[in-house]
Amino acid sequence: MTTQQNTLHVDLDERSYDIVCGPNVLEKAGELFAPLLKSKRVVIVSDSNVAPLYLDKLCGFLEDAGLSCESVVLPAGEATKSISNFEKLLEDILAMGIERGTSLVALGGGVIGDITGFAASALLRGIDFIQVPTTLLSQVDSSVGGKTGINAKAGKNLIGAFHQPRLVLIDTQSLNSLPKRELLAGYAEVVKYGLLGDAEFFAWLEENGQALIDGDQELRREAILKSCAAKANVVAQDEKEGGVRALLNLGHTFGHALEKECGYGGDLLHGEAVSIGMVMAFEFCAQQGLCAPEDGERLKKHLVSLGMPVDLSSLPCQDWTAELLMKHMMKDKKVKDGKVTFVLVRAIGEAYLSREVEDADLKTYLDDLLK
Ligand code: NAD
Ligand code: MG
Repeated sequence: MTTQQNTLHVDLDERSYDIVCGPNVLEKAGELFAPLLKSKRVVIVSDSNVAPLYLDKLCGFLEDAGLSCESVVLPAGEATKSISNFEKLLEDILAMGIERGTSLVALGGGVIGDITGFAASALLRGIDFIQVPTTLLSQVDSSVGGKTGINAKAGKNLIGAFHQPRLVLIDTQSLNSLPKRELLAGYAEVVKYGLLGDAEFFAWLEENGQALIDGDQELRREAILKSCAAKANVVAQDEKEGGVRALLNLGHTFGHALEKECGYGGDLLHGEAVSIGMVMAFEFCAQQGLCAPEDGERLKKHLVSLGMPVDLSSLPCQDWTAELLMKHMMKDKKVKDGKVTFVLVRAIGEAYLSREVEDADLKTYLDDLLK
């Protein structure tokens, strides 16, 4: 992996690609896309919130570079990642008469990135796609790593494929139109990268987090590229998820249990669940004597200073029990042979994987928490 000012190169042999990030890089879409495309034709997939803001702009920049541009606009929201919407998307794109050289472009948040990437993996047995992520969460998380997919009745993201993009283009200015709540939810994943392996980055975030949330474009660029590098680094060691990739789930086992209980309807955003889940992971480790309690306090202080949720009391759903939360954890995708792989911490910046967490210890922690 190499980083220049605006560019991070993700090294995955023949599936290698660049992440280009900075203010106003959307203007460079034409010159950046053109050399990568197998034909001059692209189909942009976007959603009903993002399309009115950026679709014409992006199309204009591509047409200026001699590319032709068609589009499909899907309803905004998680419900779009359904089998029926996926079928419709495939049929709509095929009806355009695409060829193997046609590329898809995902313009939107993680929902659009996931369904578009999966469509690209399936159409004509696989065509190229480019990610233009417009939420902080999709910029630092879902657009990196090659996981694409949709939801099933049985659970989220259960149908999908690994399909790497040809390029990820991240315009930090696109975050200016993102609702603050969504921005903060994405920021939880940024904090996660500091916590799991880079204490210096966490300290940098303590210093600069507020300014980057408030709109400083240079700080945003730096934080996003740093986060992408952290994720790409883990993914490069474990592209198809057998080992270290699980470290990216720091805060997610607790977080997913909260999400399951609160539903995915918007009462609790994924990043909000992760924010609380990371604090829970630090508290649990402190209770087990694995980590100093001060580290969890420091994390909490940073998250609270930005207005992010850190405990269950702020949540709309309140009927939790330890048994219920543990039942949800056991249903996590990451369970193997009936044992959950937990991401534990020794300190800020020192996370590790453990399959040795005892149910009784977990129950004691949750009972105390819910008292
Ligand atoms: P999202 O795509 O639903 O976007 C959140 C909201 O912001 C939507 O209403 C959207 O229309 C709006 N929006 C997007 N960009 C905007 C902008 N610039 N200005 C104004 N509004 C904007 O949600 P998300 O949080 O980006 O992504 C969540 C999805 O990502 C989930 O489906 C999750 O499963 C997936 N995900 C995938 C991976 C992966 O590795 N593939 C990783 C993490 C999350
Ligand atoms: Mg996440």
